[in-house]
Amino acid sequence: MSKPTILAVDDDPNVSAAITRDLRGRYATGYRIVRATSGPEALEVLARLALRGQPVALIVADQRMPQMTGIEMLEQARTHAPGAKYLLLTAYADTDVAIKAINDIGLDYYLLKPWDPPEERLFPVIDDLLGDWRQANPDHTSDVQVVGHRWSDRSHDIKMFLARNYVPYRWYDVERDAEAQRLRDLAHATPADLPLVLVPDGDTLRSPSTLELAGALGLRTTARQPLYDVCIVGGGPAGLAAAVYAASEGLSTVIVEREAPGGQAGQSAAIENYLGFPKGLTGSDLAQRAIAQVSRFGAEVVLARDVVGFEARGPVRAVLFAGSGQIEARALIAATGVSYRRLEAAGLDELTGRGVYYGVNASDASTPICAATSPGAPSGPWTRWPPGGRIWSCTSAGCRRSAGSSPPWCHAVLGRGRFLPNLRHRRRAGVLAGRACPPPGCARRIADARIHSPAV
Ligand SMILES: Cc1cc2nc3c(=O)[nH]c(=O)nc-3n(C[C@H](O)[C@H](O)[C@H](O)COP(=O)(O)OP(=O)(O)OC[C@H]3O[C@@H](n4cnc5c(N)ncnc54)[C@H](O)[C@@H]3O)c2cc1C
Repeated sequence: MSKPTILAVDDDPNVSAAITRDLRGRYATGYRIVRATSGPEALEVLARLALRGQPVALIVADQRMPQMTGIEMLEQARTHAPGAKYLLLTAYADTDVAIKAINDIGLDYYLLKPWDPPEERLFPVIDDLLGDWRQANPDHTSDVQVVGHRWSDRSHDIKMFLARNYVPYRWYDVERDAEAQRLRDLAHATPADLPLVLVPDGDTLRSPSTLELAGALGLRTTARQPLYDVCIVGGGPAGLAAAVYAASEGLSTVIVEREAPGGQAGQSAAIENYLGFPKGLTGSDLAQRAIAQVSRFGAEVVLARDVVGFEARGPVRAVLFAGSGQIEARALIAATGVSYRRLEAAGLDELTGRGVYYGVNASDASTPICAATSPGAPSGPWTRWPPGGRIWSCTSAGCRRSAGSSPPWCHAVLGRGRFLPNLRHRRRAGVLAGRACPPPGCARRIADARIHSPAV
């Protein structure tokens, strides 16, 4: 987590140096002290910080600056740093203007220059303001921020990747969150740029690939060495267990995983049949324990890499990555698990990740969803469905009311599972097709990707 920022804005080099020096001397351990020499420059700095998700705790601005007064700058700064505290440095002659600014722009305090000695005149004021800011922002973290459309499969993939790799993030829906609009404007993002991913201390990622995202987050996406004793493709329970055994025997070992360590098991809400855990454990707990064990023995985990081929090269085998990149190893283990069969009903593929899901994460909690599963698929996705979520399986009456006619679009089959109160399900039914629901025809504009489900 990066430190909150204190921004000092002054065009006079001497005053700027003095205020920055005093702020650094007292607050540098808990805050980043950033300096700007004009109002426009300060606004640029604030826009950059907002895009990186870095909180601004305090702006200290001189009132008399040539291009833009301190008050004019602070007024505009609200867009970029909505919760920041404002302190204006003024001359005696500007006192009336400063008092007016308390009402007009929510100025928190004004201080007459010079502020010496700072221990008596400056620091007590700033301590108070920072105390208030911290109280209003108790758990302010500079998490990753994702801005996108609820019904975008790319947004869904990115959220899944972050959640499964234990990267905390904040999600902003462009249709529903004002903050999403603000961040989108700040980044000058076009529709093609969505989803935006704002990484603390990093660049703004525009509709990034998983590999780009992993790289920006500092996850390991390349191997440290060109040749290993053992390379394991797949970081599910089988691959992680193989890595523990190989590395514990002193073999140099690397795992290549395209999504997240833990594999399918990482998505399970409760695994009760794992040896050594009589009370059971969650899939993410199992994955985290396994990664810790793997790392303890010195094995590496390379993430966000899709293995697309193997080559025999004399005594070694090469593992080829999608795009570019490879690793050589003396022995290969393919622990790639299974890919679940997907429903073959017409139209569902295009809606996958945009209203049709084969497993969810907590970030989808408030999303109204028609969910589908193949007969025989594990019950996990249902049992871990977050309590706030709703799973839809429309009735034919509902479809008639909302769409005007009721062609037999789909019948939702929800095979096995412990049914939750927020789950409607139909027994002895099969999915025939799915289609996006045209918004004007849908009562309450439920979802672009809602599936019509007439009675069987
Ligand atoms: C929701 C859910 C709940 C479950 N609950 C239980 C339970 O309670 N008890 C139980 O016994 N079993 C349970 N299972 C089944 C169990 O998780 C699987 O049997 C187990 O995960 C299989 O382990 P694996 O390592 O062989 O394969 P997987 O877990 O499938 O792991 C394979 C890994 O390989 C990666 N991979 C595949 N291809 C490539 C490639 N080309 N390049 C790079 N990486 C690749 C995948 O991304 C994946 O991470 C559950 C499964 C699910 C989905």
